[in-house]
Amino acid sequence: MEVLYKSTRSGQEPVSASIAILKGLTEDGGLFVPDHIPALDKSLKELSVMSYQEIAYEVMKLYLTDFTEEELKSCIARAYDKKFDTDIIAPRTEAEGVFFLELFHGATIAFKDMALSILPHLLTASAKKNHIQNEIVILTATSGDTGKAALAGFAGVEGTRIVVFYPKNGVSPIQEKQMVTQKGDNTFVVGIHGNFDDAQTGVKKIFSDRRLAAEMAKQGFQFSSANSINIGRLVPQIVYYVYAYARLLAEGKIKEGQRINVVVPTGNFGNILAAFYARNMGLPIGRLVCASNENKVLYDFFRTGVYDRNREFVLTSSPSMDILISSNLERLIYHMAGDDPEQNARLMAALSGQGRYEITEQMRAGLQDFYGGYATEAETADTIRRIYGSCGYVIDTHTAVAASVYGKYARETGDRTPAIIASTASPFKFTRSVMNAIDHKYDSMTDFELVDELSRIANVAVPAAIEEIRSAPVLHDNICEVDEMPDMVKRFLKL
Ligand SMILES: *Cc1c(COP(=O)(O)O)cnc(C)c1O
Repeated sequence: MEVLYKSTRSGQEPVSASIAILKGLTEDGGLFVPDHIPALDKSLKELSVMSYQEIAYEVMKLYLTDFTEEELKSCIARAYDKKFDTDIIAPRTEAEGVFFLELFHGATIAFKDMALSILPHLLTASAKKNHIQNEIVILTATSGDTGKAALAGFAGVEGTRIVVFYPKNGVSPIQEKQMVTQKGDNTFVVGIHGNFDDAQTGVKKIFSDRRLAAEMAKQGFQFSSANSINIGRLVPQIVYYVYAYARLLAEGKIKEGQRINVVVPTGNFGNILAAFYARNMGLPIGRLVCASNENKVLYDFFRTGVYDRNREFVLTSSPSMDILISSNLERLIYHMAGDDPEQNARLMAALSGQGRYEITEQMRAGLQDFYGGYATEAETADTIRRIYGSCGYVIDTHTAVAASVYGKYARETGDRTPAIIASTASPFKFTRSVMNAIDHKYDSMTDFELVDELSRIANVAVPAAIEEIRSAPVLHDNICEVDEMPDMVKRFLKL
């Protein structure tokens, strides 16, 4: 059955999956949502003998219904290949009786690779289907992880170019080095004098500049977005939950139909929303545990029904979760309102006006499968040290937030359902915080000394993504003021 994509904010005409991927955002400023959540049409037993690529097809074909089998399988084959350092794409490690689902074995060693390795292919296939001749120019503002994953995904992809703006003094040295050493003639990286919000606002301004758009069209270009609200990023994320369940079943860790709980370190609410969709497709998931760091807007929301961003922004050791507006939560709100765009639009207007909204009792009742928790900086560090001490397994700071929250959940509820923790980054990406959590004696080491020491104590080879940047030449040294961002884009496109 065909799935069409509606807006979370109005009754505008639904569009096909490929159009939703090309557009990214709806015209009324809302997000695209499927008009119904399709059910899995293979049994869990059938899925349990499939590879990651095969399960990706079984899940994605149900959502991207205007793609042919050949198109979709070709996108999948080109995305989940040797860029991943393991054939099984998303391996699992058991520690302290919990399953860590490692989503960081792709090109940039963060879970963003799971979706950003396939998005470029989905986007070019969508352009072809809709007879778009223009070259697609991806504009991205990043606070670190998304930028590199998007660059790696789009580098060398025919018919696309990518421009990434990052805050010059707002990313970690490893993150900056990863970006400025990016190869590929179709890539362009610019540091701005400003913070992430300035970069984001600047990009949005470029998107809505009609004169620039007209100039671009004349030269055969059009903009698109690799942002996490694109449905082309959400759908590929559903795959690994189904795959994780299938592997547990295949290996006899669970029985067919047995429920599992899922624990997700959350920022923009994309990853956990994918788990929610998986559950609604019929995957036996019990609780969805939403883990936050000290920016605990979501914890407060699940506890009180009030979403309130009016608070201090805290910089933590899990920066990819330092966020006060979780964009993808809008999709859940819309579903909890009974797929009612008007009710959702009112709440979103309150969020942009007063920075706060409150959902109804009836909507809250729909959220009982979610459990919100948060971990302080000290709890996060303690969790890294404890798990390393008990199992010799080193986890990154984001994953540690989730492991800490899961500990609280299990103690509070006594729920012993088998649990999967989404492990979203390699510890090598946040080496300093991770090593400091294990022992303060590491304080004085340089970044790359820490990398080698982590490799030694964890008995894990240094990932290629880190090895590569040790000696890689800087290929991008562009820096600009915020108001020069449009000029930088023009320069890159030779307009
Ligand atoms: C992006 C990111 C997250 C948050 O994921 P959302 O889908 O935005 O909730 C968590 N951990 C890491 C390492 C990330 O890069």
